[in-house]
Amino acid sequence: MITGKTKTLGIIGWPVSHSFSPNMHNAAFAALELDYIYVPLPVHPDHLGAAVAGLKTLGFVGANVTIPHKVAIMPFLDELDASAKLAGAVNTIVVKNGRCIGYNTDGQGFIKSLTAQNYTIVGKTAVLMGAGGAARAVVGGLLQNGIKEIIIGTRSLIKAQEFVDLFPGETLLKGYDWQQESFSHALEKCDFLINCTPIGMSSHKAEELPISLERVKKEAVICDLIYNPPLTELLKEAQLRGHRVINGAGMLVEQGALAFELWTEESAPRHIMSEVLSKAI
Ligand code: NAP
Repeated sequence: MITGKTKTLGIIGWPVSHSFSPNMHNAAFAALELDYIYVPLPVHPDHLGAAVAGLKTLGFVGANVTIPHKVAIMPFLDELDASAKLAGAVNTIVVKNGRCIGYNTDGQGFIKSLTAQNYTIVGKTAVLMGAGGAARAVVGGLLQNGIKEIIIGTRSLIKAQEFVDLFPGETLLKGYDWQQESFSHALEKCDFLINCTPIGMSSHKAEELPISLERVKKEAVICDLIYNPPLTELLKEAQLRGHRVINGAGMLVEQGALAFELWTEESAPRHIMSEVLSKAI
């Protein structure tokens, strides 16, 4: 029941109709009997500043931010938490005392999704495919949680190098064009591989996997940030080769749960959020 006291949250994106976050958060509020509502907020890129001002004017307590606004929204916020600075992007806003504070829960959400599967990254070598916003958040999470080495593979050496330069003074990162022979060698060290590109998404055109798993040792875990479909071509191929696989559903739930906890200061009902997400997918 929405009352005069109901607190409002939403998700800012363009478009947002595909988002499962309203399903996940509204179910979580209902389960804990918290008086909040979470709505889709389609915002055209030209109106991002007005949308942030609107959050304050309309008394929102916070919001999530999704594609394509995670980076572009940063200059409009009053303050950035260390998580947002490290990730170079914002996926969560908390409105406090009339100020919009930007956070990023994607990196920690990814780490927590691994922990939930009893996988620890301490002392491991990670290989990432892709060097976009999600990769940056994941690298932030890895660096804060005891990773030994991070290898970035992309379709362009220049982009891989530019990505590495985003972490000045960081010696654990190396960037490659994934067609280079040296990248194939690097794959031999891989303890877990993470697809941070949209290759394999149900809305993305089908294309061949850009890297081969031939040189990846059998014990390596293969992760995909994609959750729709639950098993991408990469994960299917990995399963056939006997690897353990993890998709992006756990990360989606965990990044949402961390945002929920920032807004409400209550522990998020992760099992409910996960159930709702599985049904929605
Ligand atoms: P992004 O910022 O657009 O970055 C995409 C990266 O993939 C870039 O490095 C891009 O390279 C590369 N790429 C795109 N299309 C490619 C292709 N056809 N071949 C080779 N490389 C390609 O996107 P993002 O926000 O990082 O998101 C990446 C993926 O993570 C998406 O599938 C998204 O749904 C998923 N994600 C999941 C969660 C979760 O909670 N599970 C959270 C965030 C993101 P170029 O720069 O060369 O184009």
